[in-house]
Amino acid sequence: MTQPVDLLITHASQLLTMEDGLGLIEDGAVAVHNGKIVATGKTSDLEKRFVGQEIIDASGKTITPGLVDCHTHLLFAGSREQEFASRLKGADYLSILQQGGGILNTVEQVRQATPADLIQHGLKWLNEFLTHGVTCVEIKSGYGLDYANEKKMLEAISALSEYTDQHLVATFLGAHTFPKEMKEQPEKQMDELVKRMLPDFRELAEHCDLFLEKGAFSLDQAELILECAQSLGYGLKMHTNQLSQLGGIALAKKYQLLSVDHLDIMSAEEIDTLAETDAVAVLLPGASFFLKESAWAPARKLIDKRIPVALATDFNPGSSPCPNLHFVMNLAVHQLGMLPDEVWQAVTVNAARALNKNDTIGSLIPGKYADLVLWDMPNHLHPFYYFGKNFVEKVWVNGRYAHLH
Ligand SMILES: [Zn+2]
Repeated sequence: MTQPVDLLITHASQLLTMEDGLGLIEDGAVAVHNGKIVATGKTSDLEKRFVGQEIIDASGKTITPGLVDCHTHLLFAGSREQEFASRLKGADYLSILQQGGGILNTVEQVRQATPADLIQHGLKWLNEFLTHGVTCVEIKSGYGLDYANEKKMLEAISALSEYTDQHLVATFLGAHTFPKEMKEQPEKQMDELVKRMLPDFRELAEHCDLFLEKGAFSLDQAELILECAQSLGYGLKMHTNQLSQLGGIALAKKYQLLSVDHLDIMSAEEIDTLAETDAVAVLLPGASFFLKESAWAPARKLIDKRIPVALATDFNPGSSPCPNLHFVMNLAVHQLGMLPDEVWQAVTVNAARALNKNDTIGSLIPGKYADLVLWDMPNHLHPFYYFGKNFVEKVWVNGRYAHLH
């Protein structure tokens, strides 16, 4: 007897379930019902077991889970192409920051933006992500920096969830940098973060992130924030080891971070310490590319130590204005030495784990959300080979067809 399901996709030349590696099934099929994956397997098997209300023949095409972008600063206002142009003439990132440019420029524009401005901006870019098959996007606050404007950003992220089918994950990044009005009184800003913002924003943000870096937050300040965020039950994440090594990896162990992000500069000892934790290493090669860094994250050494590696766009107006996860996947192959199988894991299962969402997204396992991408390509190597081409043809989120504009 056949079981009726909402959707049956059949004859995919390759189906990647991402269960135990790629989980590659040739002539693969997926059965979807009530927004969830019911079964995956060979077409001949699933056709005997299920009858789809809608049937899609995916002959010559590839099916994967929806991609997960686990590190973005997607919500911002304005753009900084002038700053980029001066960097091309030789100015460096930290000197631009010290002159009140860089991130503080974006903070000023976000403070002036209305919630409607932010939502409109967010929807435009989320749609761009969707056209690249990204069905789950993490979005950080961190361009408001004071109570009212951080709240405005987090509320805009939750409002965005009402307008898009994509799964959005909000992360509080009040500890991104010190706002100019608090430059001389960092203790006061720390008090604001720890005593007011973190407790009050718990309902609006699932995770807490911070920027451990010269000119941003020190090791002691990072520890205060992590201590407080942990006691409030936030998932913990940290930008660390991008431009300097300030001891962030030891904190990853002490506070059981979900992820440590950037990791462009890592000593052998730090890699060993990280291997003793459950943290995901989130690599952001788009930022290394755009900042013309000489250091690229040591992906091979991390993978050799069995550290789960995820990749993300780090989409932001300063160091990685790249809304295209496929480009990052290509950078990972060429600049980080990652293999295609590892890259697919990095933008699905491992990225889901970096968001603590691996029970519901990231792979095609019965019971998980039916977030699927149909790629007009016969196998999973095509995006690396025909670099620059977007093969995404159809996207489903929760089993529903998402409209690509
Ligand atoms: Zn970032």
